[in-house]
Order: sequence, then structure tokens, then C-alpha cells
Amino acid sequence: MEDIPFNRSSLQGSELNYIQQTLALGQIAGDQTFSKKCEKLLEGITGCNKALVTTSCTHALEMAALLLGIQEGDEVIVPDFTFVSTPNAFVLRGAKPVFCDVRNDTLNMDESRLEALITPRTKAIVPVHYAGVACEMDTIVEVAGRHGVAVVEDNAHGLFGKYKGRWLGTFGALATQSFHETKNITCGEGGALVVNEPRYVQRAEILREKGTDRSRFFRGEVDKYGWVDIGSSYVMSDVLAAFLYGQLEQWETIQAMRRTIWEHYDACLASWASETGVRRPVVPPHCGSAYHMYHLLLPGLSERTAFIAHLAARRIKAVFHYLPLHLSDYARARWGGMPGQFPVTENVSDRLVRLPFYTSMTAAEQERVIEAVLEFTP
Ligand SMILES: *Cc1c(COP(=O)(O)O)cnc(C)c1O
Repeated sequence: MEDIPFNRSSLQGSELNYIQQTLALGQIAGDQTFSKKCEKLLEGITGCNKALVTTSCTHALEMAALLLGIQEGDEVIVPDFTFVSTPNAFVLRGAKPVFCDVRNDTLNMDESRLEALITPRTKAIVPVHYAGVACEMDTIVEVAGRHGVAVVEDNAHGLFGKYKGRWLGTFGALATQSFHETKNITCGEGGALVVNEPRYVQRAEILREKGTDRSRFFRGEVDKYGWVDIGSSYVMSDVLAAFLYGQLEQWETIQAMRRTIWEHYDACLASWASETGVRRPVVPPHCGSAYHMYHLLLPGLSERTAFIAHLAARRIKAVFHYLPLHLSDYARARWGGMPGQFPVTENVSDRLVRLPFYTSMTAAEQERVIEAVLEFTP
């Protein structure tokens, strides 16, 4: 019996051909033909003002922090249930992360708690569309607007998901995408900064190009380029952009395959879940999922531990997810995070398990997972 991995990278077919084209073109550094193709495609589909491919989503978040001028003493509101990069990109600039508990249903930032977290020092709210299901963007954008605070969507899970018919990643002044191996669309390591507010575009290009106006020079807008600002090296290599384009141009196929797998899990596990007190993912009717993952909430920590072991014994890899950020070693040491502060995050973090879920998952693989799950009684 073969192992069923938690994730497997799934080639679409043209990746290697496109990489060979970058070599033939002599374009292996960044911001060239394939990077631009990826950017145009993202802009064309979502209607975002500008997409800039980057070395990672983490780096795109760092660019967002630089663009917003985040500095020592500023506060940035982030969900307590997210990846470390969501706050860390801002902490790197000297900001203090203000954690927000999540909603019990979607596991997204609880928008009803935002107002109470805003202070005169708040500079940004960074929602994460967990599993590809939208946060309550109407409320988040309204609260942020009323207080003059920027919204940056960490859209690592949400590319091609929708909120009330509108693409995720188009609500914030800025949004970030991830093309890490574990994400729906990948080039191994990569990301994008999405700039929805035009006033940030020019500086975003400069920050990405080590603080130079090289992008303008490439376009023939200036006759030499030089040092004009702070910046770093956030440019994606065109070798990776070629790989990424091979995936991005197949986005509809990828999303359709993931939707089929997601819906099959959900249908096959429905009665087992209701009989055993296991909760399936909640997708509100006004949210179009990006189908980033399929997760279950077991009744408690011991049941989850037993469930993961039960699947492992059948050579199936299921994994838990984020630990509450306020209880991390770093947050406890710096900001004194205490158990009990964010009860929903603490609770779901102990109970959540992610089933194997990847674009190339075969029907036979999925049947094996489903059979194994149905044999488990918490
Ligand atoms: C994957 C992920 C990131 C980091 O993405 P990288 O491209 O690996 O830097 C950030 N935030 C969230 C929510 C993620 O899931």
C-alpha cells in the first residue's frame, strides 16, 4: 500500500517547456517576459490594479509594511489563527501585532471584535481568508475606512475565491498571494503583491528592485536607473515565473479539480460527521471558496490525536494547523500572551485536522482516505 501524502505538487504540463523558453530567451533574472505574463494574467482575471510577482508571500507582506510606512510603535491587527508571516512582516518594521480572535464558523478574523482593538496607533488590519473562504469584508473595510486604517489582505489561501461575487485580494489597498508548494497554484517558492490603490504602484516597483527605479528604466521612462529609496530584492526569477505561468494559465482546471475533490469529501463525510460530532468546514452562502484545504474539527484534542494516528496507521498523512500565535514562544516573551485570551482560536487549534488535499489527488486515493475516516469513531 502506497503512502497518501498530505500534499503533492501537481504539474499542469507546460512548466518545463516554459522554463526552456526562458533559457532560449536568455531571460533567467526577473521582471521579464514570463513574470509579466503572470502579472497580466492575474490583473486580467481579478481586475486588480497591479500585480507584482515576488519571491514569496512573506516578502509581499514585507513590501506592504514598507509601503504603509509601518514603524516602531505602530499596531497592526492580525488574526490569532494564521501563519507567522502575517504578523512577522510588520513586526520586522517595529510594529506590535494586535491579535484578534477568530469566528467559530469560518475561523476567520472575527470582525465584530475589530472596533474594540483599534487605537490611535493602529495602522493596518490584515485579514486572512482561511482555507479560501472570505472574511466578512463589508464590515472589515467599513471599520478600517472609518478609522483611516489600511486593509492588507493576506490572500495566501484565497486566490480565485470570492466574497459577494468579487474576487478576494481586491478589497484591501494591498493584498498578497503565495505560490508556495502547498498552495493551489505554485512555483515552489513565490508570491505576489497585489496593489489595488494606484498611488502605491510606483513605490512598490522600487521597493522590489532594491530601492532603484530599474522598472521605469526597463520601460524606457528614464534613461538610467539608480538609488531612489530603501528597498530589497523581492523580484521573482523568470525561471520560476515560467513554471508559475504554466500553472496560472490552467487556473480554471486546477480550481475545478480542487472543487470536485472538496465536494466529494464533504458529501461522503456528511453523515459520519453529524453522527460523531465532527464539524465539517462552514462556507457561508455569499462566499465562493477558493478550495485551498479540507479540514475537520474533531470533538477535542485527544480525539484529534487518535484520528491522526488512526489515519497514519493506514499510511495516510493528515495534519493539524496553526497554533495560536499569542501562545507562541516569541509572542509570550515579547507581549506576554496568556492562555484563555483568545478562546475560539485556542479551541479550534486543538481540534482542527486537515485531510490530504491536492490537485492531482486520484479518485482511488480519495476513496482510501474516505474509507479510513468512516472507520473512525471519536
Ligand atoms: C503560506 C502562507 C504564507 C507564507 O507564504 P510564503 O509564500 O511561503 O511566504 C503567509 N500567510 C499565510 C496565511 C499562508 O498560508
